[in-house]
Amino acid sequence: MKKTIRDIDVSGKKVLVRCDFNVPMKDGKITDDIRITSALPTIRYLIENKAAVILMSHMGRPKGEPKPEFTLKPVAERLEELLGQEVIFAQSDVVVDASVEAAAAALQPGQVMLLENIRYRKEETKNEEPLTGQLAALGEIFVNDAFGTAHRAHCSTAGLAAYMPAVSGFLIEKEVKFLGDALEDPERPFVAIMGGAKVGDKIPVIKNLMKKVDVLLIGGGMTYTFVKAMGYDIGTSLLDEDNINLAGELLAQARQDGVQLVIPVDSVCAKEFSNDSERIICDSENMAEGYMGMDIGPKTVELYTDIIAKAKTVVWNGPCGVFEMPNFEAGTKAIAQALADSDAVTIIGGGDSAAAVEQFGVADKMTHISTGGGASLEFLEGKELPGIVCLEEK
Ligand code: ADP
Ligand code: MG
Repeated sequence: MKKTIRDIDVSGKKVLVRCDFNVPMKDGKITDDIRITSALPTIRYLIENKAAVILMSHMGRPKGEPKPEFTLKPVAERLEELLGQEVIFAQSDVVVDASVEAAAAALQPGQVMLLENIRYRKEETKNEEPLTGQLAALGEIFVNDAFGTAHRAHCSTAGLAAYMPAVSGFLIEKEVKFLGDALEDPERPFVAIMGGAKVGDKIPVIKNLMKKVDVLLIGGGMTYTFVKAMGYDIGTSLLDEDNINLAGELLAQARQDGVQLVIPVDSVCAKEFSNDSERIICDSENMAEGYMGMDIGPKTVELYTDIIAKAKTVVWNGPCGVFEMPNFEAGTKAIAQALADSDAVTIIGGGDSAAAVEQFGVADKMTHISTGGGASLEFLEGKELPGIVCLEEK
């Protein structure tokens, strides 16, 4: 177990907190502030416990240079409204300079300050000096609360841990608890649903999950690489040519390990990749020539829904069809509903899967929706995340 801010005395200390304030912006305005509101519990805890709070984040890709369109100033303003107290914005093209150092030194317990976009500095994404040392000089405790960048070893996500005690904030604590418990100590049956577009991207995850789950349900665009590996024609469906053999190996591995690796038995197919294309239903052994699989079919939905209903833990990564098109959303919608209806621990990883449960109005029925796309995938792959490994053990 990793230490959190609850396990360390922050009172009277200068605490450097890595947040994920990488918010979507349009015309200089924040269009969605969920990432800022999500960070509030950690920041409020630190304020209440008399820490002097110095926040760090990146936004967009300024690529190591100051670019006004990526300034965190709007975030400081929004945060000030949400907290109902002053947030000192440490404006600086180089993130840390003499005036920022002076402001940090003068920061009092209970006060909050936000540094400029950390990626204005080219060292950040390389985890290089002198940036890490300059940041370290500002504070005494490092708190990582940015799960979305925890799979990257950057100055502000991992490097700082070499200089001072390092613990997690409440957001990372929650991610590690749900994703970690699901993988290490799941209530069984443990069912994983893997969908999305490309098999290649998800193979490492499938491989790792096969060691842990009782049933692995395949859906989405990667279905057809498996169907192809089974020796059937797939029409014009999405195919990951380079990974046909690997898909075959996974099927064989599953048989050997006694894991149920289930491939859709039917699909909703279309002539063109378009919502208005004519639709037909094909069995997987009998895909029509000139058609592509766009969604799992009704027999698959029934099969998967039954399996999900019996599960005690479900991890879902990747939509089961092209859910962005209303005519091909039914499969993904039915799976989302099955998770919503189940009393299992339900965990959603992946940006598009999170968007799907949101779109179908069942987001609040899920046990946990992971906020880190790439980071949650690497977690599910069984990789160690540098931004988490660097934190102190309890
Ligand atoms: P996540 O972000 O949840 O990890 P992915 O990014 O892997 O998910 O995949 C999401 C995309 O997969 C969606 O845009 C969806 O339209 C696409 N997709 C799902 N099924 C199919 C299919 N049968 N053919 C083509 N694309 C598909
Ligand atoms: Mg995606």
